[in-house]
Order: sequence, then C-alpha cells, then structure tokens
Amino acid sequence: MESALSRTTTLSVVIPMFNEAAVIPALVARLRPVLDALAVDYEVVAVDDGSRDDTVSALFDRGREWPQLRVLRLRRNSGHQAALTAGLHRAVGQWVVSLDADLQDPPETIAEMLRVAREDGVDVVYGVRADRSTDTMFKRNTARGYYWAMRRLVGVDLPAQAGDFRLLSRDVIEVLRRLPERAPVYRLLVPSLGFPSAEVRYDREARAAGETKYPLRRMMALAWESTANFSAAPLRLATWLGMSSFLLCLALIVFGMVVHVSGATIPGWTSMFVAVLLLSGVQLICLGLLGDYVGRIYATVQNRPAFHIGFDSRDERDEPAGAK
Ligand code: UDP
Ligand code: MG
Repeated sequence: MESALSRTTTLSVVIPMFNEAAVIPALVARLRPVLDALAVDYEVVAVDDGSRDDTVSALFDRGREWPQLRVLRLRRNSGHQAALTAGLHRAVGQWVVSLDADLQDPPETIAEMLRVAREDGVDVVYGVRADRSTDTMFKRNTARGYYWAMRRLVGVDLPAQAGDFRLLSRDVIEVLRRLPERAPVYRLLVPSLGFPSAEVRYDREARAAGETKYPLRRMMALAWESTANFSAAPLRLATWLGMSSFLLCLALIVFGMVVHVSGATIPGWTSMFVAVLLLSGVQLICLGLLGDYVGRIYATVQNRPAFHIGFDSRDERDEPAGAK
C-alpha cells in the first residue's frame, strides 16, 4: 500500500505540532495554495505530538475539505525531534520537507526548495535563515552559541543558521530510516551524511499565533542531546582529568618525600599521603580508559555509516551532481 502511494506522491510536507490549535487556520490558509500551485501529487503529514488542546480536532476539521492532509497522532508528548522522526518515517513522498507549524518557516519557500533540488540534482536543500530579526535577542544569541559550539565540538560542517526547515530526497530518508538512533538530532545528522546539498535563504517570520514550545529547559536539552549524540568529548574529559591529576599526584608525592626527609611530619603520614594520591590517580586514569571504550561502544551502537558512496564510475546510473 505504502509503496503504491510512494510511486505517485511527489512531495510530503511533515509538520510536528504540539498544542498548535491556534495556528492551524492560518497555517492551512497559507500552505494549501502554495502546495496546490505546485501541480504535483503531495501529502501533508501533520504529526500531533500528544497535544492537550484542540489540535487534533482542528486538523480533522480541515482534513474534511483537504484530502491531502494526513494526521499522525503520537500517544504522548515526545518532543519536536521525535515527532519529526515519526513524520519522516511515515512520509511516502519522493521529496520530504519538514516545516514548523507556526509559520516561522514561510511555506512559499517550499516551491523554491523543490525547484533547486530538481534543477541542481541535490538530495538536501537547507532552509537558511537570512533574517532573524523577528526572533528575540536571547534566541538569536543562544542559537549563535549553539552553532558555534556544534561546529567545534562535533566537527560537523553545519550550514550556518539552518534549522529544521529542509527538503530531503527519498534516498536520504531511507538512510535515516535505517539508523537505529533513538533520538536523532537532524540538524547535525543530515549534514554528517554528506549528501550533495544546496541552500535556500529565507526570512524567519514571527510566530503566527500561540507561543513558543521551546522554553529554555528544552533548548538546553537539545544542546545536550546534540553534544552527547555526536561527540564523546564529555566522556574523554575523564581521561584528561585522570592524566592531569595523576601528574599532580606525582608532584605531590615528591612534596611528601621532601616533607618526610625534613622530618617535619608525624609517623605514617608520608606512606598514607603517597598511597592515597597514587590510588586516586590510577583510578581516574582507569575511569578515563573505561570512558574511551564506552565511547567506542556508543559509536558502534549508533551504527552510522562510516562513508556514503555518492558515485561509482562503473555504475552508469549515477552521475556526480554538477556533471550533467
Ligand atoms: N513541537 C513539537 N513537540 C514539542 C515541542 C514543539 O512537535 O514537544 C513543534 C511545535 O509545534 C512547532 C515546532 O515543533 O511546530 C517548533 O516549535 P516552536 O515553534 O515552539 O519552537 P521555536 O520556533 O520557538 O524554536
Ligand atoms: Mg517557532
């Protein structure tokens, strides 16, 4: 059934929604004309992330006159990225766009993304926020810090200011679907796969209605999720701590000896002092060692492809992007 659909559906638009009833009328009013004008078969996958307001009934209301609107309901609030995952896994289109419900990502840009993907022959089109003046100062600065830290810590070449508004080809979706990742962070995962990509710039608008579902607590959770997901650096901290405190211990042991020789100590102090320092240094190093192995196990369990073949000259079907 799904495969029959996927042969005819060109575009899927995935929209995670958490308590977004207030914005649904405006969203539908603006999204539908854009999609209808594309003259391709499309579906809209609205993922209700366990909303506690009227999101689902509002969606069903609209769905009565809009057959392409599909509603996917999660049983409980699972978070933006999880809702996105559900939608990406269920989408059947040859191209899949992910979009926020609040109209901060202008739906008109979808047309341009699809055009760029087809004309440039790329698998990923990032929506890049050219103007964020409608976001608060706080949001802009935390976002800048996030992208800076991720580029350094995680080593993924992140397109600057690319959020979760992007278009993916079926090939990318299939690679993502095969990953056993429990909590994918797409804004890092997608660039790390290295598919040919392009960028489309757009101006970030103000939220059309309702309020942000990303309070500081969730922003911090996303930052930690991104770090832990992509880097064993925090684990490796134990190794460095172990090494440096071991060196410190050695220095302190020399100090203990000097005190011992000078005779300014009570009996037994030196041996206790040295034993405690040596043992704690050794323990920290062992912890670091363990941490390193745990990091490797983690990387193995994540099962991300170590490489992704974009082109093989023996394979006539594939031509490198841009060689056409
Ligand atoms: N969202 C979700 N589940 C959540 C939180 C948010 O599906 O637990 C959705 C939300 O409905 C919106 C998108 O994620 O479509 C982005 O959230 P929001 O616009 O509130 O974030 P901001 O733009 O303020 O960063
Ligand atoms: Mg928003």
